[in-house]
Amino acid sequence: MKTITTHEARDLQVLGAFKEGVRHFIGGEFVASIAGREFETINPATGQVLARVSEGGAEEIDHAARVARQAFAIWSRAPVAERSRILRSIGDEILKRKEELAALESLDSGKPIGEALDGDIPRAAYNFHFFADYIKFLEAEAYHKDDVALNYTIYQPVGVAGLITPWNFPLMLATWKVAPCLAFGNTCILKPAELTPLTAAALAGIIEQSELPVGAFNVVHGFGPNSAGQAISRHPQIDLISFTGETATGKAIMADAAPHLKRLSFELGGKAANIIFADADLDAALQGSLLAAFRNQGEVCLAGSRVFVQKPVYQDFLKRFVDEAVKIEPGDPLDPRTKMGALISQEHFEKVSGYVELARQSGAQIQCGGKRPDNLSEGNFYLPTVITDVDILHPVCQEEIFGPVVTILPFETDEEVLQYANGTPYGLSCSIWTRDITRGHRLAAAVQAGTVWINCWFLRDLRAPYGGMKKSGIGREGGRHSLEFFTEVKTVCIKL
Ligand code: NAD
Repeated sequence: MKTITTHEARDLQVLGAFKEGVRHFIGGEFVASIAGREFETINPATGQVLARVSEGGAEEIDHAARVARQAFAIWSRAPVAERSRILRSIGDEILKRKEELAALESLDSGKPIGEALDGDIPRAAYNFHFFADYIKFLEAEAYHKDDVALNYTIYQPVGVAGLITPWNFPLMLATWKVAPCLAFGNTCILKPAELTPLTAAALAGIIEQSELPVGAFNVVHGFGPNSAGQAISRHPQIDLISFTGETATGKAIMADAAPHLKRLSFELGGKAANIIFADADLDAALQGSLLAAFRNQGEVCLAGSRVFVQKPVYQDFLKRFVDEAVKIEPGDPLDPRTKMGALISQEHFEKVSGYVELARQSGAQIQCGGKRPDNLSEGNFYLPTVITDVDILHPVCQEEIFGPVVTILPFETDEEVLQYANGTPYGLSCSIWTRDITRGHRLAAAVQAGTVWINCWFLRDLRAPYGGMKKSGIGREGGRHSLEFFTEVKTVCIKL
């Protein structure tokens, strides 16, 4: 495999902008940390340092909150047409710089560049384009009360938002928050994951060149606890927080934000069931299930990591799934032919392999994978892994592994599989593969999940609500649901 060295990556010029380090973007300027603290961002495929990154803390967050508050006075009053035009121009610029952003994302996160080029980056642009259009067609309510009074509503921006994002879809998830936040007239501080700061910094470069008022968008890099993340949760002048990440982090943010009663939106972990009935189109179910299991190395909150197959087709489906899984060879994320890249970090590699070892020790069968590829001695590469013959209550069936690891278990009846599907603390998503539409509807209603896919996976209209039940989140984002989170709705009542 040809792995890219830091030097070669510099030749690609995508890292050129970060030669002097990755800086915060506060009040329209790229600045280092006041205390001079820095950390490194590492290429997961090679272990090499890609760039040094300024580490922010309470002081940087305070600075950013002050400039964001000043900018709010201007941006919250900007006409819709102007906000829409500026957002559209940011989306356009992301698309223009698609190749560069995809390379940065792939270098920083280890994801295959093809996925970044065709998925993450166009979707990041679309997040801006979508909300640029959406705000032009907003509706409000009006109620006549017996000719006595007229009530009507106004949606107004809330203030300064803290946007805290994870490393698995760095730019796509950052823009999923930044775009609606700005579209509805708020200003913000983005705190990208410490493991993947590069595309957030590139976005700052794009926004610097846009007509967005100075201070409306800020980026502060850093970690969570005792660092920039926690400083956001605790800052009294940050009114709302949209967070995507682990369930445990959500709890910490909620506790830190409680004294200020901040408005919170949480998109948290998942452990999705992927249910295949014997009557399904099994070719489609197989392709969809492979994607749900292994896309982005399985580092997807929506990953269909618990596959349940109805008994009559179980053995056949399992064999076909394993035959296909072994063909997915992890490799150089920057090679356009690569379908599986590297796990985000050495620590995460150990977490993923630790779960598989635990299953092995419990007597489960590892049908394929369960180790790093023989041909890749460096980098955080792990083979697509299929586990069978494991108890439904085993940690590999209950906890989020967030790697290319699936369990495949048989079931007989709808009632049985519904119990399995609902039998974890999570409730983010579920897929159901069947030709029986009545069964599909019935199960979709009964499954505890924020999104249920029937005969598909990862498909969504951005107007639809997105979020999780149980430990998978609080609130919904998307279309009108983003409007509700990022605005205060006011009722005006006129006596007639
Ligand atoms: P994480 O919770 O470790 O980190 C996410 C972000 O929170 C990072 O920016 C981190 O620095 C910050 N953070 C950590 N501790 C903090 C604290 N105490 N206060 C404030 N900020 C803090 O998550 P991760 O490992 O980056 O991402 C993987 C997780 O994200 C998985 O659980 C995955 O399911 C989840 N995720 C969920 C969705 C969804 O839509 N529901 C989407 C993607 C990822």
